[in-house]
Amino acid sequence: MGKNDLTRRQFMVAASAGPLSAVASSIPAYGNVSKRAGKLAVLGGKPLRTNTFQSWPIWDKNADEERVLSVLRSGVWSRAKVVAEFEAKYAELMGAKRCLATTHGTTALLTSLAVLDIGVGDEVLVGPYTFVASIAVIMLSGALPIMVDTDPETFQVNPDKMEEKITENTKAILPVHIYGLPANMDKINAIARKHNLMVVEDACQAWLAEWRGKKCGTLGDLGCFSFQNSKHLTCGEGGAVIGNDDEVMNRCHSYHNFGRPYGEKALTLGGYVRLGTKCRMTEFQAAMLLAQMKRLEEQTKTRGRNAEYLTSKIKDIPGIVPHRLYEGVTRAAYHLYPFRYKAEYFNGLPRAKFLAALRAEGIPCGDGYGPLNRDPFFEQTLNSRNFRQMYSKERLNRCREQNHCPDNDRLCTEAAGFSQRLLLGTKKDMDDIADAIFKIYENRDKLV
Ligand SMILES: *Cc1c(COP(=O)(O)O)cnc(C)c1O
Repeated sequence: MGKNDLTRRQFMVAASAGPLSAVASSIPAYGNVSKRAGKLAVLGGKPLRTNTFQSWPIWDKNADEERVLSVLRSGVWSRAKVVAEFEAKYAELMGAKRCLATTHGTTALLTSLAVLDIGVGDEVLVGPYTFVASIAVIMLSGALPIMVDTDPETFQVNPDKMEEKITENTKAILPVHIYGLPANMDKINAIARKHNLMVVEDACQAWLAEWRGKKCGTLGDLGCFSFQNSKHLTCGEGGAVIGNDDEVMNRCHSYHNFGRPYGEKALTLGGYVRLGTKCRMTEFQAAMLLAQMKRLEEQTKTRGRNAEYLTSKIKDIPGIVPHRLYEGVTRAAYHLYPFRYKAEYFNGLPRAKFLAALRAEGIPCGDGYGPLNRDPFFEQTLNSRNFRQMYSKERLNRCREQNHCPDNDRLCTEAAGFSQRLLLGTKKDMDDIADAIFKIYENRDKLV
């Protein structure tokens, strides 16, 4: 092992001697030089930062507790007036005609696919760089997810690789605005129109994000949100579907309520008009969301401002490539601040060691999503009894063959990012993040 390591290291040094050292000598001097100096914490030195960052979730002891307690005291805990109030306010906030609250982002997505009649025999285009639920819901609906490679600069699905995956069975596109950074909706919607496909937006990380001034979630046929504990608008677990078509939204309502008809008869027994499930939000969840909603705009502004500042500080560090936003993005929500780590600029220091060094300096940093198209659940599902009964061998094989996403594979080895809660801090918090990265860069020789 030692011998191979050494050979590889020598190779990296040799490979990086020319152009890379030229880049290194041209780095502008900035930030806190004294903080960046000194021994790395991971090697026993003093951590650059010992203060904690903003924790999550955040709540207001008086106002939020009162809202939840008033639900408790009313004795009406199942879906009623408070949920309806949340739906009206969330629809208004999003600029959508209607909103249906659900138990989770996952059930919001399942409801959307069900009412748009997406299921057995259909193919749905989706990117592999996402949370597992975006792909699981397609398979749970009986449809085949067809993977479209990722644009590594933006971390979003690459619309230029989408059309080549369309067949006569393609029924919908499920664009995910991953990390709350909007996908390229001009191109995606143009492809959808040209090929007569439906668009279900997974906006589960994109509260208040905007494409050309319109909110994510209102750009396709239906938009889905999550209010799980880590999300920017949260009540522990929760979700919503938003849309502008009354008839489709009535169907969503019906589907999420055992298939009862929408409207006055929604709570009467009998007269079920469709096969449905139950994923109704409780009054407690809605009360918490109404309380949380008051802070969302301000927090979104803070995250946006800090993200922009952080980009300006780290973009010139060799080997650190911040995400790019598409030209049509008028606002990003930043569920995570993603960047790519190019080990070759750090003398080949593996990403895991870079992240460990960063954490030792007091800066929490994650490594993003793994390649879901290679995750065991995918093959396990294609190989399941259900799928073998629903699809021919040829179609299952085509799904497997369509599944290669080389740009995404690469991205999954380079991605890193800071949680949204770090972006809720101060400018000095961002300085600490940048200084810590720089400290590691300057000491890279001592780590490899
Ligand atoms: C969180 C999330 C979901 C699922 O939402 P839940 O509320 O956890 O069910 C789906 N897609 C994406 C992109 C998410 O981040």
